[in-house]
Amino acid sequence: MPKLETILVPIDVAQPEAAEAALALARDAAKAYGGQLVLLSVLAPVPGYVKAQLPASLHEQSVEFATGALKKLAAKHEVEEDAKTVVLDGHPSTRILEYAGEASVDLIVIASHDPGMADLFLGSTAARVVRHAHCSVLVVRAKRK
Ligand code: ADP
Repeated sequence: MPKLETILVPIDVAQPEAAEAALALARDAAKAYGGQLVLLSVLAPVPGYVKAQLPASLHEQSVEFATGALKKLAAKHEVEEDAKTVVLDGHPSTRILEYAGEASVDLIVIASHDPGMADLFLGSTAARVVRHAHCSVLVVRAKRK
Protein backbone atom coordinates (compact mmCIF):
# COMPACT_ATOMS: atom_id res chain seq x y z
CA MET A 1 0.00 0.00 0.00
CA PRO A 2 1.49 3.40 -0.96
CA LYS A 3 1.80 5.99 1.81
CA LEU A 4 -1.47 7.78 2.41
CA GLU A 5 -1.28 11.37 3.56
CA THR A 6 -4.76 12.56 2.76
CA ILE A 7 -7.92 10.47 2.43
CA LEU A 8 -11.01 12.24 1.14
CA VAL A 9 -14.53 11.10 2.01
CA PRO A 10 -17.26 12.98 0.14
CA ILE A 11 -20.53 13.06 2.09
CA ASP A 12 -23.89 14.40 0.95
CA VAL A 13 -25.32 15.89 4.15
CA ALA A 14 -28.83 15.46 2.74
CA GLN A 15 -28.17 11.69 2.88
CA PRO A 16 -25.36 11.16 5.37
CA GLU A 17 -26.37 7.54 6.06
CA ALA A 18 -25.41 6.66 2.46
CA ALA A 19 -21.76 7.48 3.22
CA GLU A 20 -21.48 5.79 6.63
CA ALA A 21 -19.90 2.54 5.40
CA ALA A 22 -17.43 4.56 3.30
CA LEU A 23 -16.50 6.71 6.28
CA ALA A 24 -15.97 3.68 8.54
CA LEU A 25 -13.71 2.07 5.95
CA ALA A 26 -11.75 5.30 5.38
CA ARG A 27 -11.30 5.67 9.14
CA ASP A 28 -9.88 2.14 9.39
CA ALA A 29 -7.59 2.75 6.39
CA ALA A 30 -6.30 5.95 8.02
CA LYS A 31 -5.60 4.05 11.24
CA ALA A 32 -3.88 1.17 9.45
CA TYR A 33 -1.85 3.11 6.89
CA GLY A 34 -1.68 6.62 8.32
CA GLY A 35 -3.15 9.67 6.69
CA GLN A 36 -5.51 12.47 7.58
CA LEU A 37 -9.20 12.18 6.81
CA VAL A 38 -11.04 15.01 5.10
CA LEU A 39 -14.84 14.90 5.20
CA LEU A 40 -16.14 17.01 2.32
CA SER A 41 -19.67 18.12 1.60
CA VAL A 42 -20.65 20.11 -1.49
CA LEU A 43 -23.68 22.38 -1.38
CA ALA A 44 -25.31 22.32 -4.80
CA PRO A 45 -26.03 25.77 -6.26
CA VAL A 46 -29.48 27.32 -5.89
CA PRO A 47 -30.88 28.74 -9.17
CA GLY A 48 -30.65 32.54 -9.35
CA TYR A 49 -34.40 33.08 -9.47
CA VAL A 50 -34.83 31.07 -6.24
CA LYS A 51 -31.81 32.70 -4.58
CA ALA A 52 -33.34 36.14 -5.11
CA GLN A 53 -36.27 35.12 -2.87
CA LEU A 54 -34.13 33.77 -0.04
CA PRO A 55 -32.58 35.65 2.89
CA ALA A 56 -28.84 36.35 2.51
CA SER A 57 -28.12 34.53 5.77
CA LEU A 58 -29.41 31.23 4.37
CA HIS A 59 -26.08 30.34 2.76
CA GLU A 60 -24.26 30.90 6.05
CA GLN A 61 -26.82 28.71 7.82
CA SER A 62 -26.44 25.96 5.21
CA VAL A 63 -22.65 25.94 5.66
CA GLU A 64 -23.12 25.80 9.44
CA PHE A 65 -25.63 22.97 9.14
CA ALA A 66 -23.38 20.98 6.80
CA THR A 67 -20.31 21.47 9.02
CA GLY A 68 -22.33 20.33 12.06
CA ALA A 69 -23.62 17.27 10.19
CA LEU A 70 -20.07 16.27 9.16
CA LYS A 71 -18.77 16.69 12.72
CA LYS A 72 -21.68 14.65 14.09
CA LEU A 73 -20.95 11.83 11.65
CA ALA A 74 -17.24 11.96 12.51
CA ALA A 75 -18.05 11.65 16.22
CA LYS A 76 -20.50 8.80 15.60
CA HIS A 77 -17.80 6.83 13.78
CA GLU A 78 -15.04 7.74 16.24
CA VAL A 79 -12.96 9.37 13.56
CA GLU A 80 -9.55 10.71 14.70
CA GLU A 81 -9.62 14.24 16.16
CA ASP A 82 -7.33 15.57 13.44
CA ALA A 83 -9.93 14.88 10.75
CA LYS A 84 -10.86 17.96 8.73
CA THR A 85 -14.35 19.02 7.67
CA VAL A 86 -14.73 21.04 4.47
CA VAL A 87 -17.90 22.52 2.97
CA LEU A 88 -17.80 23.91 -0.58
CA ASP A 89 -20.33 25.33 -3.02
CA GLY A 90 -20.81 24.02 -6.51
CA HIS A 91 -21.51 20.91 -8.54
CA PRO A 92 -20.72 17.88 -6.33
CA SER A 93 -18.50 15.77 -8.61
CA THR A 94 -16.69 18.82 -10.04
CA ARG A 95 -15.87 20.24 -6.62
CA ILE A 96 -14.86 16.81 -5.23
CA LEU A 97 -12.42 16.37 -8.13
CA GLU A 98 -11.08 19.93 -7.86
CA TYR A 99 -10.55 19.59 -4.11
CA ALA A 100 -8.80 16.23 -4.57
CA GLY A 101 -6.35 17.87 -7.00
CA GLU A 102 -5.77 21.04 -4.94
CA ALA A 103 -5.24 19.17 -1.66
CA SER A 104 -3.11 16.42 -3.27
CA VAL A 105 -5.50 13.76 -1.98
CA ASP A 106 -4.04 10.23 -2.16
CA LEU A 107 -7.28 8.26 -1.90
CA ILE A 108 -10.97 9.08 -2.31
CA VAL A 109 -13.37 6.74 -0.51
CA ILE A 110 -16.84 7.25 -1.98
CA ALA A 111 -20.15 5.50 -1.43
CA SER A 112 -22.39 4.21 -4.18
CA HIS A 113 -25.75 2.51 -3.94
CA ASP A 114 -26.02 -1.24 -4.38
CA PRO A 115 -26.94 -1.65 -8.04
CA GLY A 116 -30.44 -2.97 -8.62
CA MET A 117 -31.96 -4.38 -11.80
CA ALA A 118 -33.04 -0.98 -13.07
CA ASP A 119 -29.80 0.82 -12.34
CA LEU A 120 -26.59 1.45 -14.17
CA PHE A 121 -23.46 0.39 -12.35
CA LEU A 122 -22.68 3.57 -10.42
CA GLY A 123 -24.57 6.67 -9.37
CA SER A 124 -23.66 9.84 -11.22
CA THR A 125 -21.38 11.42 -8.63
CA ALA A 126 -19.45 8.23 -7.90
CA ALA A 127 -19.15 7.46 -11.64
CA ARG A 128 -17.70 10.89 -12.48
CA VAL A 129 -15.26 10.73 -9.58
CA VAL A 130 -14.02 7.26 -10.57
CA ARG A 131 -13.67 8.31 -14.21
CA HIS A 132 -11.86 11.60 -13.71
CA ALA A 133 -9.90 11.41 -10.44
CA HIS A 134 -6.10 11.41 -10.74
CA CYS A 135 -5.74 9.50 -7.45
CA SER A 136 -7.00 6.09 -6.35
CA VAL A 137 -10.71 5.78 -5.67
CA LEU A 138 -12.35 3.16 -3.47
CA VAL A 139 -16.08 2.69 -4.11
CA VAL A 140 -17.98 1.35 -1.12
CA ARG A 141 -21.33 -0.15 -1.90
CA ALA A 142 -24.09 1.06 0.40
CA LYS A 143 -26.81 -1.55 0.85
CA ARG A 144 -30.37 -0.49 0.19
CA LYS A 145 -32.47 -0.41 3.37
P1 ADP B 1 -25.67 6.82 -5.56
O1 ADP B 1 -25.60 6.82 -4.06
O2 ADP B 1 -27.03 6.54 -6.07
O3 ADP B 1 -24.60 5.95 -6.17
P2 ADP B 1 -24.25 9.24 -6.23
O4 ADP B 1 -23.22 8.67 -7.13
O5 ADP B 1 -24.85 10.53 -6.69
O6 ADP B 1 -25.47 8.31 -6.03
O7 ADP B 1 -23.64 9.50 -4.80
C1 ADP B 1 -22.70 8.63 -4.29
C2 ADP B 1 -21.89 9.31 -3.22
O8 ADP B 1 -21.32 10.51 -3.72
C3 ADP B 1 -22.64 9.75 -1.95
O9 ADP B 1 -22.93 8.69 -1.08
C4 ADP B 1 -21.61 10.69 -1.38
O10 ADP B 1 -20.54 9.95 -0.81
C5 ADP B 1 -21.10 11.40 -2.64
N1 ADP B 1 -21.87 12.64 -2.86
C6 ADP B 1 -23.02 12.81 -3.57
N2 ADP B 1 -23.43 14.09 -3.49
C7 ADP B 1 -22.52 14.74 -2.72
C8 ADP B 1 -22.38 16.09 -2.24
N3 ADP B 1 -23.27 17.03 -2.55
N4 ADP B 1 -21.31 16.38 -1.46
C9 ADP B 1 -20.39 15.44 -1.16
N5 ADP B 1 -20.48 14.17 -1.57
C10 ADP B 1 -21.51 13.81 -2.33
